[in-house]
Formats: sequence, C-alpha cells, structure tokens
Amino acid sequence: MHETSISHLQGRDPEVAGLVEAEARRQYEKIRLIASENYVSPAVLEATGSVLTNKYSEGYAGKRYYEGQQNVDPIELLAIGRAKELFGVEHANVQPYSGSPANLAVYMAFLEPGDPVMGLSLPMGGHLTHGWSVSATGKWFDPVRYDVRADTGRVDMDKVRDLALKERPKLIWCGGTAIPRTIDFPAFAEIAREVGAVLAADIAHIAGLIAGGAHPSPVGHADVITTTTHKTLRGPRGAMIMSTAEHAKAIDKAVFPGLQGGPHNHTTAAIAVALREAAQRDFSGYARQIVANAGALAAALLERGYDLISGGTDNHLILIDLTNKGIAGKPAAQALDRAGIELNYNAVPFDPRKPFDPSGLRLGTAAITTRGLGEAQMPRVAAWIDEVVQAAAKGDETVVDRVAAQIREFLASYPMPGWTSTP
Ligand SMILES: *Cc1c(COP(=O)(O)O)cnc(C)c1O
Repeated sequence: MHETSISHLQGRDPEVAGLVEAEARRQYEKIRLIASENYVSPAVLEATGSVLTNKYSEGYAGKRYYEGQQNVDPIELLAIGRAKELFGVEHANVQPYSGSPANLAVYMAFLEPGDPVMGLSLPMGGHLTHGWSVSATGKWFDPVRYDVRADTGRVDMDKVRDLALKERPKLIWCGGTAIPRTIDFPAFAEIAREVGAVLAADIAHIAGLIAGGAHPSPVGHADVITTTTHKTLRGPRGAMIMSTAEHAKAIDKAVFPGLQGGPHNHTTAAIAVALREAAQRDFSGYARQIVANAGALAAALLERGYDLISGGTDNHLILIDLTNKGIAGKPAAQALDRAGIELNYNAVPFDPRKPFDPSGLRLGTAAITTRGLGEAQMPRVAAWIDEVVQAAAKGDETVVDRVAAQIREFLASYPMPGWTSTP
C-alpha cells in the first residue's frame, strides 16, 4: 500500500484514493525505465504533502510580500544553502516551478525577444525549451540548432563552433533529454567565450550523477546551470537555477517577479530534503550504480543485436534504434508496457519516421537503481526486453502476460520507497 498514509484521502475521496493506490501498485510492479523518472523517498513525499502548501511567500527570504514567513524563510534558505554546498555554486534559486519555467527564466534574465539562441535540436536529443519551433522559446527568440554526427551519434563540437561563429547566438544551451554520452562542458564554454554568448548548462537529466560524482560538473564552465529536481537527483517535481554571484540578481529577478508568483513552499522543503539525501555518502554509490547499470544493460542489449545510438552510454540513458528489429518505437513501447517494462518511444537522430511514431526507444536506469537492481540483473532485463520486442514484431501477444507475471515476481525482492507490501 501507499506509504506515506493516504487514510484521510480514502475516507474523503475514495475515487482519487483508489487511483493513487493503483498508481503506487503499478510503480511497484513494473520495471520503470523512463529515463526522466525515479522513486523519491518517503521523507520527500512527506515534505511534499505537508501544510507548507497552505502558505504564500512571494519574494525571497527577508524580502517577502506577505507576513508569516517565520518557517518558510529558513526552509528556503536551507534548500539554497544545500544546493550551493552540493554543487559548489555561488548562487542558487530554488523557486522555479519546474524545468521548463526555469529555462524560460534564463531567457528572461539574459535575452530580449528575437535574440538568437542556440541549442541541440529536439529530434537529436535537445529539449523543447532550447529553442524548438513549437515552444515559446522557438517562437519568441531566433533559434539556431546544432546536431549530432550521423556516424558517431555524438555532438559535433567543430560544427557547434562554426555555427556559433556564423550565427552569433547570445545564449547557448548544452544538455538535453536524450543524450547518452558525457557533455563536454569545457568545449562549450570555450565556444561561448569566443562568440560572447552566455552558456547555459541544462543538467535536468544528469544532476544526480553530477552530485554523486558520476558525471563531470559544469560548474566553472557554464555561466548558468538549470536543473529539474525530480530526475536522477531524486527529489520532488521542481527545478533550480544555479550560477556565479555575478548573475544572481538577474536570475532572481527573472524568476520573481519576472515569470512567477508565489513559490511552492512544500516543493521547496522537499527539494531541501532531497539535497540533504544527495549529500549523504551512499548517494555517490547510487549515482555510480546508475551508470554501471546502464553500461551493463547496454552491453546486454548490444549482445542481442540492438543498435544503440553512439554505440553505448556514459550515463544513465540508452537510446535504441529499432529499425533492424523490424518494429517501430511506439508498438514496441506499448507491448513492453503491457509486459511490465515501462519506457518511452523516442526519435533517433536523423529519424526517417514521424515524431509521434518514431524509430527508437529511450530508457534510463535511475529508478531501477533506486529500487536496488544491480549489474547482475541487467542481462535478465535485456532478455525480457528482447523477448517482448521480438514477439511484438511478430504480432505475438502470448508472451506479454507471462513476462508481466515473471516481472511482478522478480520485483517483489526489490523494495520500493513509497510502498509497503504489508498493510
Ligand atoms: C525534463 C527536462 C526539462 C523540463 O522539465 P519539466 O519539469 O518537465 O518542465 C528541461 N530540460 C531538460 C534537458 C529536461 O530533460
């Protein structure tokens, strides 16, 4: 059952309670490989579900527009202090409602409408908010997009430099949502310096790896760093913007009053809790295990003939091109979900198929690592994936129920934070 308790909810609103309980069970019974997801701790859940949600706190600690901030101010200062300590930055703003608003605040802080902005194109692994056409950032600014190389699946830094010299962006984004390889922050910093652009590192996916020492840090290279707090960092839905002291004022003003009203204090508290957890010694073990698991899973998939973008992974994320398996990403993802393996269909670089029906699958190992799976379990996970994908390619549904039952039994040995088996 759901842990923390939802007994009041069950009494007041059985309909919603039933769905929350069903979701907890679903998360318990599935191998969750969505690269942006995780399981937060019961402590983070408790902070998220606390009375802090009742309080309005527009402004910043010591400079609020509402009274009664005796407890909220210290909470926000704790979160800020912990972020600065954990990532080694001079300034942190913990108020952005989520990753997309955090990125918008960077535009607000440094750009005027119509200014040129450069980012990795969405189908190559970038994020919508890095200037993609359907995003406000692509409509209100002048986007320039870099790619990955067709032969290596990696960002081509020579091309990034040529493009930056030609287009003179005022802001350059590095980072993205489907990048299986280490981001070369020093190389981006050199290019940004050369063209006089602000360099923003969006570490939403890899923040937990950076905090745990399993990926190089952009600190000292990027002018500004944005991150969600709910992916590998394993906190609540939220975001942070970090920077040198030089940009502190511009960023704070952009978040409030530039873009937002009152901060979500329950989220701020949960961010503080997650940052404390990320500073514990075992967190670097978790971060390294995520990378080791992804490496082991990639090796097992390669052995089974899967075509991995860039040939493997350096981080938590694997991008598969299914073309040689005779099935597209969406039907494969749907069959896998029915079989108890949850991931998402995804475009691959230079995908000939449409974005809503692309060629690939994206998966990540953060959630299963939190659950306690290790490298020894990865060949088994790969075997299940392969079995279901092959069956789905042949239109054979019979394996789905059998694999789902096997997975339920398998996962019973791996406790889930937020779920207790004994009522
Ligand atoms: C997830 C993500 C975001 C956006 O986060 P939301 O909280 O979903 O708005 C921004 N940038 C990158 C690189 C991401 O992966």
